[in-house]
Amino acid sequence: MDKTALDRLVSRWVRPQIDALSAYSVPESEGLIKLDAMENPYTWPDELRQAWLTLLQTVDVNRYPHPQAPALKEQLRQVMQIPSWAKILLGNGSDELIQMIAMTLGGPGRVVLSVEPGFVMYRMVARFTGMDYVGVPLDPETFELDSTAVLAAIEQHQPAVIFVAYPNNPTGNLFAIDMLLEIIQEAPGMVVIDEAYAPFTDASFLPRLGEYQNLVVLRTLSKMGLAGLRLGLLAGSTEWLEQIDKTRLPYNINVLTQVTAEFVLKNRSFIEHQTKAIKQERSRLIRALAVIPGIRVYPSEANFILIRLRQGQGVRTHAALQAQGLLLKNLQGTHATLQDCLRLTVGTPEENDTFLDVFGQLC
Ligand SMILES: *Cc1c(COP(=O)(O)O)cnc(C)c1O
Repeated sequence: MDKTALDRLVSRWVRPQIDALSAYSVPESEGLIKLDAMENPYTWPDELRQAWLTLLQTVDVNRYPHPQAPALKEQLRQVMQIPSWAKILLGNGSDELIQMIAMTLGGPGRVVLSVEPGFVMYRMVARFTGMDYVGVPLDPETFELDSTAVLAAIEQHQPAVIFVAYPNNPTGNLFAIDMLLEIIQEAPGMVVIDEAYAPFTDASFLPRLGEYQNLVVLRTLSKMGLAGLRLGLLAGSTEWLEQIDKTRLPYNINVLTQVTAEFVLKNRSFIEHQTKAIKQERSRLIRALAVIPGIRVYPSEANFILIRLRQGQGVRTHAALQAQGLLLKNLQGTHATLQDCLRLTVGTPEENDTFLDVFGQLC
C-alpha cells in the first residue's frame, strides 16, 4: 500500500480541527497501584456479587434495552434528590452528555466557556462540534474563580454554554458560591454545573435548579464506584432537555448498565460505606502530606488530592513513584499553573499507606 497516498487522502478529508487534536490517552496500569483516575478502590461484598450474577442470568441481550429507562431514572431521582418537576437525561457516562450538550448548542461561531485548569473534555467536545473554546484562568495561587475575568469573558464572548466542575477537577476545590451564582445570572446561555464528585461533598446546585432558567446539573455514577458501567445524568427543565435528547443515539444506555445500576442503587448502603471510608482516608492523607516539608497540599472536596512538589521535582517524582508500583496523574504540561503538580486519587488504607511510605522517602 502506498503510505504517502493514504496520508494525503486522510489529511484531505479529516476536519482540520480533528487533525489538530491529540486523542485522550490512558496510560498502561497493569501491575500498578492505580491512583490516577478517581476510581473507587473498593469492589463489592461477595454476597452482592453473587446476587448480581444471578440477576444478570435473567437478562436477554438479544433485545434492545429500554430506550428511556424510566425505572432507573426514578431511582436516580430519589437517590440524588432531583426535584420532581425536573427532567432527567441519561448518558453513556457524563462525557456523552457533555458531547450531547455541545451538539445541541454548538456550531461555527458558538462559544464554549470554562475555567482552567479544568476538565479537559469541555475543550475537546468544543473542538468535536466546531465550537470556539474560551478557557478563563483560575487564580494561580488558590485555584478560586477570578469572577471579574469570567464576567468580562462572558460579556465579550457571549458563550452558548459554560461548563464548571464543582468540585473542580484537577484542583479538587469548590468555587465560591456567590461568584458562581453571579456567573449563572450574567450568562446569556446555558450553565452546566458538573457535579461528578458529588458523593464526596455536601455542596450541590441541585436544590437551586428551579431558581435559574439557564442552569442544568450533571452527575455521574463513575466516581462513586461504577466507572466501568458508564452512566451519567443531566437534570434540568423539560424545555432544555427535550432538545438535547434529540442528539442522543437510540439505546445509548445498554441493558447490562441499566440492570446493574438499578441493582446497585437498590443495595447502595455498601457504596455509602465506601464513600465514607474514602472521605476519611482523604482527611488522613491530607494530614499526613501536610507535614512533609517542601510540598504543598491543596484542600479537596473530591476523592483526589492535588499536590505540588518542589520546583523541578514533579516529573522525576511521578516517574519514581511509578517505578515503585504507584500510578498517579502527572499534571505537569497540562496547564501553566500546574508545574510540578501530581493528582493523587484516594485509595484503600493499605494503598494509601504504601503511597505515603514511598512518597515520604522520595520527598
Ligand atoms: C470524571 C469526570 C467526568 C466524566 O465522568 P463519566 O461519567 O465517567 O464520563 C465528568 N466531569 C468531571 C469533572 C470529571 O472529573
